[in-house]
Amino acid sequence: MLVLVSVTNPEIAPDQLDGLVTVLDLVRSGEARTRPELARRSGLGRTVVTQRLGHLLASGLIEEGALGPSTGGRAPRELRFRAGAGVVLVAELGARGMTVGLTDLAGELLDHRALDWDIATGPDATLTRVEALFDELLVARPAASVWGVGIGLPGPVEFVSGRPVAPPIMPGWDGHPVRRRLGARYSAPVWVDNDVNMMALGEVRSGVARDVQDIIFVKIGTGIGAGLVSQGRLHRGAQGCAGDIGHISLGGAVAGAAETVCRCGNTGCLEALAGGGALARDATTAARDMRSGALADRLAEAGTLTGPDVVRAAEFGDPLAVELLQRSGALVGETLAALVNFFNPAMILLGGSVGASGDLLLAAVRQAIYRRSLPLATRHLQIVRSSPCGQSGLRGAAFMVVDELFSRERLGHWIAEGTPIGSPDAIRLIS
Ligand SMILES: [Zn+2]
Repeated sequence: MLVLVSVTNPEIAPDQLDGLVTVLDLVRSGEARTRPELARRSGLGRTVVTQRLGHLLASGLIEEGALGPSTGGRAPRELRFRAGAGVVLVAELGARGMTVGLTDLAGELLDHRALDWDIATGPDATLTRVEALFDELLVARPAASVWGVGIGLPGPVEFVSGRPVAPPIMPGWDGHPVRRRLGARYSAPVWVDNDVNMMALGEVRSGVARDVQDIIFVKIGTGIGAGLVSQGRLHRGAQGCAGDIGHISLGGAVAGAAETVCRCGNTGCLEALAGGGALARDATTAARDMRSGALADRLAEAGTLTGPDVVRAAEFGDPLAVELLQRSGALVGETLAALVNFFNPAMILLGGSVGASGDLLLAAVRQAIYRRSLPLATRHLQIVRSSPCGQSGLRGAAFMVVDELFSRERLGHWIAEGTPIGSPDAIRLIS
């Protein structure tokens, strides 16, 4: 098994490390911009703040800028996180496409590429293509040093080992050592997670849900999955598969549930009845039965139908497409109503190629949630579409990497070098 191992660094005492992480987090998040602000917000004494800040300035992680506003005495210099010290390579792989990008250490997307791609092609061909796109982005920035790599995959991932575990739509990927391969190629630490977790993290840190502490991000693409953020932190669960709501059974209460076999092998799963794949299947049947002229035309033209085809047909007023989307939204909403009572989120975000498009689905989801949830749980609940640019997953992947690099468990192992690159004893990759 491949795991990232942290080794205790004898040079930095635990209380020093705590102070370094606290000061760095406050500057990184913009909560403190001057020394007096740091002293106030960190709860550390002025001397300790000066020492820890000195360490971070010497390491090149923080720099001093122009004079900040004076509050009477000598004007303090503004402190800035050096987001440009390194770059993070990020990729979000979906069932039918991939987006690959490059960010700075503050999660700002500097460049990206998108490509239609079938994840079922397998890990070797897929990762070869990801590497080719990464290399293309790096060629344009020859001075960039890669501090880490973050990958989102459309299936369950064991976060500790960075390996996909029995992903239903990714034949050949079970247990694949994604981390080892990319870590060896880029000589940088690699973290791998479920794509929906990445999207949830991206939205909370720099998207629609910025500054919201408790959210459920629901991705409705070909399948259905969710990412949970509780008290501002991603909730991955014991094994990393928290939020896998697509395979919640709707039981016999829903017409056709008992006969609908899911790709996971069970019957009556939410995604088998309401995901983009289900929409495509039901739309194809309807088109063949000539119950929808618009969908029949699209089928004749393209040879197959997809979830987004149904969304487009509904937007043009096709009654059958509208009915299919409303049914899908009602089933997703009823499932979410139970989760709202259980988890009490402040915001639910709908994303993915089907979830983020059009008002029809959103309206049906809202209606079902408000009808079925406790009044107290929905009093201030916002139900919205995710960020329109669709780049929340890439930004989330960058935040995942940077948060790990600057965590208490890892920072002490490489800060003496000023960079996690070429510091194999600090963040080791072992098999
Ligand atoms: Zn299932």
